[in-house]
Amino acid sequence: MRGVIMHSPGHVSVQDRPDPRIEKPTDAIIRLAATCICGSDLWPYRGANDVHDAPMGHEYVGYVTEVGADVRTVKVGDFVVGSFMASDNTCEICSAGYQSRCVDVVGMGGVGTQAQFARIPHADGTLVATPEPPAEDLIPSYLAASDVLGTGWFAADAAEAGPGKTVVVVGDGAVGLMGVLAAQQMGAERIIAMSRHADRQALAREFGATDIVAERGDAGVAAVRELTGGLGAHSVIEAVGTQESMMQAVRSTRAGGHVGFVGVSHGVELPGDKLFYSAVHLHGGPAPVRRYLPDLLQRIADRTIDPGKVFDLRIPLEQAAEGYRAMDQREAIKVLLTL
Ligand SMILES: [Zn+2]
Repeated sequence: MRGVIMHSPGHVSVQDRPDPRIEKPTDAIIRLAATCICGSDLWPYRGANDVHDAPMGHEYVGYVTEVGADVRTVKVGDFVVGSFMASDNTCEICSAGYQSRCVDVVGMGGVGTQAQFARIPHADGTLVATPEPPAEDLIPSYLAASDVLGTGWFAADAAEAGPGKTVVVVGDGAVGLMGVLAAQQMGAERIIAMSRHADRQALAREFGATDIVAERGDAGVAAVRELTGGLGAHSVIEAVGTQESMMQAVRSTRAGGHVGFVGVSHGVELPGDKLFYSAVHLHGGPAPVRRYLPDLLQRIADRTIDPGKVFDLRIPLEQAAEGYRAMDQREAIKVLLTL
């Protein structure tokens, strides 16, 4: 099969890779219907993480082509969506709704789903099948559910977005934009997107943002306070993962408010005194996307939400290197790779 390999920072190609096989009786094999490049794939691309000839990709939707002997809930031919973390969905941690930290978790990044086929561990726990194969135009939205939508949804949930709440979203990448959509679906009264890019501001408004703040740092905090009667927001979504974005989030939150942080943390160190006097709730981490999948798939099937709009560049898998370049250069918000 063909699949993406990142040889070293900035160097991506599509190569022949071994066809995946059933390794454990709980595995399934899927033929990808579409896959995509994640903002988190840019960390190794930019040299922030070590990378050496690594298969890439952790987002996926597709058709089951083979199942192991113990697989019960999906069958050959099913269209399935799964999270970037494979989970058994039965352990105590999964049962509590934190499947991304399952005691048997398998990161799908190690599998590498920017490929024609992929092995899905813990198929029964990980995969959710749609009742029937979806209309072609819904496939990008289902793919979004695999990570960015589920992650934005968790962030909004962790930030306790809801009716009567003012929600601030720090980060205008795909996850931040999905956080806007989630907050809107949860009934937030006001949604303030922090963004400096006109195209992303426009998409944020389309997804439900009521206000845009282009400033950052002290000026960004001041702008949020100005919009919230001097108090700060009830709910803040952090979708970047840097020291600056994390402190932007904490400082934009009112005392007693909630920060949902889902940007993959890179060098974040919270100053104890600022955290102490902020009196905010912090809840985040790798999103337990599996918890939300049944609900999200239903909303997509009903065409209540259209998260697939977040893919603003669609190119063939074979041109993945161009997709990485476009995302790195911020020419694309999120790249869908067609198969
Ligand atoms: Zn588990």
